[in-house]
Amino acid sequence: MKFARWILCALLILILAASLSLQFAPTLGDWPRAAKQPPPEPGQVSLTFLGTSTVLISDGTTHLLTDGYFSRVSIPELFTRIAPNRERIQQALDQAGIDTLDAIAVLHSHFDHVMDSGIVAEMTGAQMLGSSSSAMVGRGSGLAEERITTVQTHHPYRFGDFTLYFVPAGHVPLPDIIENWTGKGEITEPVTPPAPLGAWEEGQSYGLVITHPAGNLLIQGSAGMQPGELDRYQADYALLASASLGKQSEAYQQGFMEETAGAVGAHTVIPVHWDNFFVELTAEVPPLPWVLDNLDASFHAMADRHDGDFLVLPPFQRFTLEPPTAATDTAP
Ligand SMILES: [Zn+2]
Repeated sequence: MKFARWILCALLILILAASLSLQFAPTLGDWPRAAKQPPPEPGQVSLTFLGTSTVLISDGTTHLLTDGYFSRVSIPELFTRIAPNRERIQQALDQAGIDTLDAIAVLHSHFDHVMDSGIVAEMTGAQMLGSSSSAMVGRGSGLAEERITTVQTHHPYRFGDFTLYFVPAGHVPLPDIIENWTGKGEITEPVTPPAPLGAWEEGQSYGLVITHPAGNLLIQGSAGMQPGELDRYQADYALLASASLGKQSEAYQQGFMEETAGAVGAHTVIPVHWDNFFVELTAEVPPLPWVLDNLDASFHAMADRHDGDFLVLPPFQRFTLEPPTAATDTAP
């Protein structure tokens, strides 16, 4: 009993120290932010960053979303069984002006990407596309089978004037303890929340190339890569996951930038997944706490290796793409 008390005491101190260290976060500082723009003209492609690697992409007629994670479970809750928060989901959708969506493209099946996807698909009428693991999450959310697409890599999926290509990618390396906790395998059974965080295993990670006559882009939901996979595509905008990139070696950072923004020839790099996704999404959402990521190191890893613009999109603020520089479609 005495031993159990000591363990409990040590655990409480650990939790206290951890929660204290989570109070300190860097700021966006002087990193260039996208200026407010007039509303896009019909047919122009606009992006709205909605935290983590959740991005709304619209041409005014067709509306796409990546991931759609809005529950943003707090850190203490991560140690319990977690579940989507419908109130938060609805609030974020309202604030972003989303009522219908054509497709939700899931970039991998960790909780901070896929947990809400099936529910958002249900609420907005969207088709949910992703790996076989993500499909299991959709099923667990009660989404009808015909609304779930298990994707093939490099295959064109068309929605209105948009074409989506899912490209094999890796996940940013995490410390072993975190990797074991969050799950690196495949999901083989429907996930029925509430469930422990590890139920949402990574599955296949993708980079997503989206082409449209009014603008092409790449979204890399984690700072990982698979060499050569993006070489056949062109995209002017590369939206790259920032979290944990600053903790990787110089060689890794160089490889990541060459295999993503470099491979598609992007003129503009936009970081995503830099926000503290353990708190509610607001227009002024803070970056991840220091103990989890060093924003400056992660942003420098991208900006210093990119010969072009580097731009931060504040959440909920629409950003209109310039038309493509290369006139040809990038279909492989
Ligand atoms: Zn992940």
